[in-house]
This record gives sequence, structure tokens and C-alpha cells, in this order.
Amino acid sequence: MKLAQAGEALSGRYPGSSLTRWANSGLSPDQASEVAWQARFELKTDATSRSTAWLHLKAQAELKLECQRCLQPMSWPQQVDCTYRFVPTEALALEQDNEAEEDVLSLEQPLDLLELVEDELIMDLPMVPMHEKCPVSVKTGTQTPDFTEKAHPFATLAGLKGQKTD
Ligand SMILES: [Zn+2]
Repeated sequence: MKLAQAGEALSGRYPGSSLTRWANSGLSPDQASEVAWQARFELKTDATSRSTAWLHLKAQAELKLECQRCLQPMSWPQQVDCTYRFVPTEALALEQDNEAEEDVLSLEQPLDLLELVEDELIMDLPMVPMHEKCPVSVKTGTQTPDFTEKAHPFATLAGLKGQKTD
């Protein structure tokens, strides 16, 4: 691989709308931000002087989602960081992908960075997006103790009453 031999690093940005599968995984197009990515190719030589090409891929994006607890908008930063190893054939890639810690790609297939970035972002999507701490108290009949502790409506009322009688 020429790119790997040069140790070349590439970077770029994809508009959210160009990642169609990602934008369609339950997201509307305006929820998908621009995606920044960086790719670095590397050629590693083992003890038997055999060279293997590797790809280090990073991508960052930010989604606008609705919190499933308080239904307020929330931003969900995504950050993926993956490493791929290239093998000569598709058959080898299939054979080794399950066992190897890194993802294995075949040199028989044209390298599609957009697709790789998209795959990783989709896998990183939250199943149930929720604020770590919701900005508003949630009005439901099934409040968790966590919520009732944080909301102190009566304490506030008591405080106001005290001030009025002064
Ligand atoms: Zn929330």
C-alpha cells in the first residue's frame, strides 16, 4: 500500500447528511452534525520481515438528541478511535476478524473511509440517550428517589413563608 509506506496521515470533514446510514438510524438530518475524521496509515514489519499495513482512524461528531427522561434537547458528543489491519484477501479478513482484537480489512476491497467512519459512529450511538443530570425536574408518577431528592419544592415554599412573616 503506497499510503501506508508513506506513513501518510489524512484528515477531513464530512457533513452529517453525507453519512446517510448514520443520519437514518433514528436521527433526523439536522440532528447529525458535521463529522471530523483523521486517518493515519502505518506499515509494521514483523520478525520475519513481513510487512503489514495498519490504519488508525479517529472521528468526532456531535448529535442533537432528545433526552428520554426529561424530553429536553441534549447534545451527545461522539468520539471513535479504531485500528484496522489489512490482509491480502477477503477470505483472510473474514477468517481473522473474529479472533483479532483489531478490525481486519481486506486489500481486495476498495477502502471507503466514509463507510468506516459511519460504521463506527453507528456502533457508538446511544441506545437510550439521557442527560447525566437533567436540567429540569421530571414530572411523572414514577419518579426515582434520585429525582425527589433533587427537587425541593416544599423547602422553597417554607423559605418564602418564613420571609413573609418577618
Ligand atoms: Zn434529561
